[in-house]
Amino acid sequence: MAKMIKKNYLLAPGPTPVPIDVLLEGARDTIHHRTPQFKKIYEAAVSGTKKVFKTENDLFILASSGTGAMEMAVANIVNSGEKLIVCSVGKFGERWLELAKTFGAEIVLIEREYGDFYTPEMVEKALNDNPDAVAVLTTLSETSTGTVMDIEGISKVVKRAGKLIAVDGISGLVAEPLLTDEWGLDIVLSGSQKGFMLPPGLAFISFSEDAVEKAKNTKSTSFYFNLKKYLKDPLPWTPAVNLIYQQSLAVKMLLEEGMENVWARHELMGKATREALKAMGLELFSKRPGNVLTSVKVPEGVDGGKIVSIMRDEYGVTIAGGQGTMKGNIFRIAHLGYMSDYDVVTALTSLEKVLRRLGFKVEYGTGARVAMEIFEEEGA
Ligand SMILES: *Cc1c(COP(=O)(O)O)cnc(C)c1O
Repeated sequence: MAKMIKKNYLLAPGPTPVPIDVLLEGARDTIHHRTPQFKKIYEAAVSGTKKVFKTENDLFILASSGTGAMEMAVANIVNSGEKLIVCSVGKFGERWLELAKTFGAEIVLIEREYGDFYTPEMVEKALNDNPDAVAVLTTLSETSTGTVMDIEGISKVVKRAGKLIAVDGISGLVAEPLLTDEWGLDIVLSGSQKGFMLPPGLAFISFSEDAVEKAKNTKSTSFYFNLKKYLKDPLPWTPAVNLIYQQSLAVKMLLEEGMENVWARHELMGKATREALKAMGLELFSKRPGNVLTSVKVPEGVDGGKIVSIMRDEYGVTIAGGQGTMKGNIFRIAHLGYMSDYDVVTALTSLEKVLRRLGFKVEYGTGARVAMEIFEEEGA
C-alpha cells in the first residue's frame, strides 16, 4: 500500500501562510533600531500599512499580538467609570467586553448569539439611550463565527452621535474592504498573522485626531500601551526589528497587487468556498458570512472534533474547529492572506476525504468542481 508524504497546509484563520520571500526577509541581519538605516525601513512599513488601512491618521506598530492593540484602544479612550458601548456576536466581541471591564468602563452591551450580527439600527438605539457613552467597540470580522459586520453603516450612526468608534480588524483587514478615513473610523487595529501574510508578533493601530484628543484627556492606566508615549516617540520601546523588515515587504506586495484586487480575490475565494460547501450538502453557520473564513455546521452524526484533528494530524491540512460553546458544533475554513484558488480546492478535497471516512456521503470532487467553475466564471 502506497503512503503519501504529509505536506503542511495552513488553512486556519491565523496564523496564515507566509510567502517565502517574506520569510527570508526576516533572516536578514538584525540592526540597531535607533539608526537612520532602521528608520528608513520602519517608515516604509508605516507608510505602506497606512495605505492598507486607507488612512492618513497616526499609525503605530506594536510588538504584541493583536490583542495588545485592542488593549491599547481601550486603555487610552476610557477613564474608569466612563461608558462604552460594546458590540459582541462571538469570542472576539467578548474580548472587547473583558477589556472594557478590565479598564473599569461602565458597559452597555449589544449582544447577539453566535452566528448572528449587529446592525447600525441597534447601535443607533444604544447611542440614543446612552448619550453619555464615549465610544463604540466593534469587530469587522468576528473570527469565531466567520461573520462580517456593516462597519460603514455603523460608523455613520456613531459619527452622527459625535462619538468614537473602534474597529477590531485583526482578521478582517486586508480580506474585507475597510476605508478608515472615508468611513470616519477613529481607531482601527489589526495583527500581523492574519491577512497581512506575516508571522505572529506584530499589531498595528491607527488613531484619528478625535481619538488622540480623547486619549490626551484620559488617564491611561497602561504603561506599555500608553498612547501619549507613542505620540512623543513612535518607538518608545525596542521594536520587533526583523518582523518590521518582513512587514515592509508584505505591505509592498499587497499594495502592488492593489487593495481593490486583494479584496476581490478574497471575495471570490469566499464565494467559491461557500457555494462548494453547500453543493457538498453542508450547511453554513453564519447569518452574514464574510470573506475571511467560512464556518460550517458539523453534519448530524459526525464527530466535529475528529474532522479537524484527522485533517491536521493525518493529512497535514490545518483548519479550525469551533471555539468556546461552538466547540464540536462547527468547523472553520480560512481563505485569508497568502491564499489562492488551489488552497481552496485543497481544503475542500481534504474535507471530502475526512467526511467520507467519518461516514458522511459526498462524492469526491463535488466541492472542487463547483469552486473551479466559479473561479473560471470570474476569469480567475
Ligand atoms: C485573532 C483575533 C484576535 C486575537 O488576536 P491575537 O493576535 O491572537 O491577540 C482578536 N480579534 C479578532 C477578530 C481576531 O481574529
